[in-house]
Amino acid sequence: FKPFSHIQSLPPDPIFDLLEQYQNCKSTNKVNLSIGEYRDENGNPLVLEVVKNVEKDLASRNLPKDNLPIDGDPKFYEEATKLLLGPESKYIKEKRVCSIQCLSGTGGLRLTGELIKRCSKNKTIYLPDPTWVNHAPIFKKSGLEMKIYRYYNNGLNFSGLIEDLENAKENSFVVFHACSHNPTGTDPTEKQWKKILKTVKKKNLVPIFDTAYLGFSSGNYDKDAFAIRLAAEQEIPSIIAQSFSKNLGLYSERIGCLSILCDTQKEAENLRSQLKAIILPMYSNPPIHGSLIVGTILENSYLIRKWKAEMKEMQSRISEMRSLVYKELTRKKTKRSWKRIISHSGMFTFSDLTEKHVKILKEKYSIFVESTGRISMGGINHNNINYLVSSIHEVLQ
Ligand code: PMP
Repeated sequence: FKPFSHIQSLPPDPIFDLLEQYQNCKSTNKVNLSIGEYRDENGNPLVLEVVKNVEKDLASRNLPKDNLPIDGDPKFYEEATKLLLGPESKYIKEKRVCSIQCLSGTGGLRLTGELIKRCSKNKTIYLPDPTWVNHAPIFKKSGLEMKIYRYYNNGLNFSGLIEDLENAKENSFVVFHACSHNPTGTDPTEKQWKKILKTVKKKNLVPIFDTAYLGFSSGNYDKDAFAIRLAAEQEIPSIIAQSFSKNLGLYSERIGCLSILCDTQKEAENLRSQLKAIILPMYSNPPIHGSLIVGTILENSYLIRKWKAEMKEMQSRISEMRSLVYKELTRKKTKRSWKRIISHSGMFTFSDLTEKHVKILKEKYSIFVESTGRISMGGINHNNINYLVSSIHEVLQ
């Protein structure tokens, strides 16, 4: 018996596939602007100094390798929640937040999908159009009924967004990118968030905040958490999937925190037991290394300051590249409007390069951009910027 002999091969994931093509590319000019991973001035992955120092300290302590609890390390998830909501949050003081450690942002969203399937009567979820490519597969896996709301039309489609929320089915779940919207780089203003959350409250919708890039929009973690804190202030029951992949550069540690704002302490405890029942048969308990790193940093105000300064540096470097690319493309009078590069924030810019342009960039210039024209700004630096700009200019001639 050959149980899998009938299985067909599936096409590879387009983003990871592009990354592999980049890695195999022999050109010395190659530029990777596909995957959303930050690179330093020399195009290398960046391990933050604060992380290196904490890791040295952890290594010297010969810590045991015992299993964590099913819901992770309490020191980690309690500190992560304080960072997210602010230490004075009434949800923390009244023990009305159910927080657990999870496998980064993706894992937090996947658990959210399973929790809705298991515990909510309403299984409808609204996603922004467009959104991160993995959102639909994540929630499809949990069998939720997926719908979209308008988000972008050469800029934030605010009226379309509000109209679609107004017409949404009551008590549904709605995914929001707390900041640095992927792929468009376009976020609502604080004033627009107020209106969005007013509509959310009126329609009894439940926000799911995907917070993969807190700190990457403005360089300030607290400022980027505006929408989440406003939802908490207004007692809107919300789910927050917090990731430390980007802002602490801990991509491969798969470290994140899922927080759910509850009505009562009892509700938070009940939810914790349900989440544990989902996790145990899935992966038993999360890995410890990432939670030790983040927990150690977050319980020490000196290390937090060090981290935030390094985070600000990453954000500033991206901002500087945005300005330079804009300046050079404008100077060359390259076709199309490039203003969006400087008005967008976070890791990405949604250029209006077409699939055809992207193909030429890859095949002729070894510049790797996602087929939608989404550019990961983290991969641009002083060494490749001139080559990038002149290549885009030539492609658009
Ligand atoms: N949400 C969004 C919008 C993202 O762009 C990403 C990463 N590309 C994630 C979630 C998940 O990231 P991670 O699982 O590494 O935290």
